[in-house]
Amino acid sequence: MFDKSTWIRLPRNVVVGHGALDDLGDAVGELYLSGTPLIVTSPSPNQIVGDRVREQLSGAETVIVAEAGFEQVQNVIDAAREVDAGYLVGLGGGKPIDTAKMASDELDVGFVSVPTAASHDGIVSGRGSIPEGDTRHSVAAEPPLAVVADTDVIADAPWELTTAGCADIISNYTAVADWQLARRLKGVEYSEYGGALARMTAEMLVDNADLIRPGLEESAWIVVKALVSSGVAMSIAGSSRPASGAEHLFSHQLDRIAPGRALHGHQVGVGSIMTAYLHDGPDGLWQDIRAALESLDAPTTAADLGLSDDELLEALTTAHEIRDRYTVLGDGITEKAAREVAETTGVI
Ligand SMILES: [Zn+2]
Repeated sequence: MFDKSTWIRLPRNVVVGHGALDDLGDAVGELYLSGTPLIVTSPSPNQIVGDRVREQLSGAETVIVAEAGFEQVQNVIDAAREVDAGYLVGLGGGKPIDTAKMASDELDVGFVSVPTAASHDGIVSGRGSIPEGDTRHSVAAEPPLAVVADTDVIADAPWELTTAGCADIISNYTAVADWQLARRLKGVEYSEYGGALARMTAEMLVDNADLIRPGLEESAWIVVKALVSSGVAMSIAGSSRPASGAEHLFSHQLDRIAPGRALHGHQVGVGSIMTAYLHDGPDGLWQDIRAALESLDAPTTAADLGLSDDELLEALTTAHEIRDRYTVLGDGITEKAAREVAETTGVI
């Protein structure tokens, strides 16, 4: 009997480009949302573009979040209840956007994503993660109803945020390889469309790595479009699998072992070099991944991430414990194997 079914949730409006911020009012107007908009932002984006956003959303209220964390999500929920918010607008980098995403999920109201940096693929997807104590909570929330990404604003963000976004996209290579492995070995559900789109996105970014340079608005354009297409791949798959494999487990484990040391995208980039090696051996894709990261000036070594060799090896040997997601790490790799992959790939 045929009993498969699928439910794909995608953003309704995605507006990317020069001056896109001025289209926010129209992009939101087309969604027929009602009630008070609550802008969830952090101090610096609020200062830079907060007024431009408030001008276009009549009656909007604003709540400032200082850092990521469950306490902040709760603050946003309280603020939303106080003003009886009809929907939330996440404005800023990863933290306010993840916070708004999770609060909107809890409140069961819509959410609009207005990134001011291209630092990770969570700006478009329904996946988010929030630190709690020494661990992270990943939540599958609905994707944003609309995404408005102004390349003029994003081009001015600190360059390392953009290279972190690039590295997050490049890691799709190993995420998809892990997903295919899990399909073969564990019968995990696989989406050809989601897998192909995620991989193609990584390929396009690597092919264009030469064009991605600080201060160039075109770079912001390439990276944001790639983040959008990664997010769409996750929406199609109904899972973060297209963009999150063993390299993400490694990064989440680093967040516990060495919290706050490096950016998410930079950690997954280095993770991806090593897990690509584990997939294909010495003559495989890991060299292309490393070369692309190098050309972007993104970290490729433990030292670049501010980590000792021991911290890196601990994260690599224990990453499989993070969650029940089958990857090339299987039930864990030995310290000897971890050292060999890290040394051969030049990570330590
Ligand atoms: Zn990521």
